[in-house]
Amino acid sequence: MTRVIYPGSFDPITNGHLSVIRRAAKLFDEVIVVVMINHKKPVGCFTHKERVELITRCVKDIPNVRVDYYDGLLAEYAKIKEANAIVKGLRAVSDFEHEFQQALTNKELNPDFETVFVTAGADYMYLSSSIVKQVCELGGDVSKFVPPEVYEDIVKGIKKKG
Ligand code: ADP
Repeated sequence: MTRVIYPGSFDPITNGHLSVIRRAAKLFDEVIVVVMINHKKPVGCFTHKERVELITRCVKDIPNVRVDYYDGLLAEYAKIKEANAIVKGLRAVSDFEHEFQQALTNKELNPDFETVFVTAGADYMYLSSSIVKQVCELGGDVSKFVPPEVYEDIVKGIKKKG
C-alpha cells in the first residue's frame, strides 16, 4: 500500500491543486492532502479550518484522498503517517529551485522518504492561490480558476478579507 502526502498552503485551493490531487490519486493508494501553515508567507485569507473544509468539498468524489492540517515539520508529519513519499506540484521552472532544495532537506531530515513531482494540466501552469486572490480583489472573474463547488465561498472569503 502506497501512502503519499501532498502538502501546501492551499489559501485557497485552485484548479491547479485539484489537478495535482487527481493525478496523485491515480498513481498511489492513498493521498493525504495536508494544509500547512507557511510562517514565511503573510497571514492567509482563510483559516486552516476553512482551507481544510474547502478542499474536503472538492475531493469528496475521490475515495482515496483524505484532508488534514499540521503545524510543524513536514518530515515529522510524514514519519507519523508512515508515508512513502511527498507529492509536490511543479508549475514553471521558477518552482523548481525552491522545491528541489526542500526535497533534499527533507531527505536529510528523514532519509526514508522520497519526493515525487507531479505537474498539473497544461491549462493550469500559471495558476496559484496568489493569482486567484489578486484577480478577485480587483473584481475579476475567478470562476475558471477554482473548483465550482467552492467558487462562491472563495469569492466571499477573499472579499471579506480585502
Ligand atoms: P500556491 O500558494 O503558490 O498556490 P501552495 O503552497 O498552496 O502554493 O502549493 C502547494 C503545492 O502545489 C506546491 O507544491 C505547489 O508547487 C503546487 N501547485 C500549486 N499550484 C499549482 C499548479 N497550478 N500546478 C502545479 N502545481 C501547483
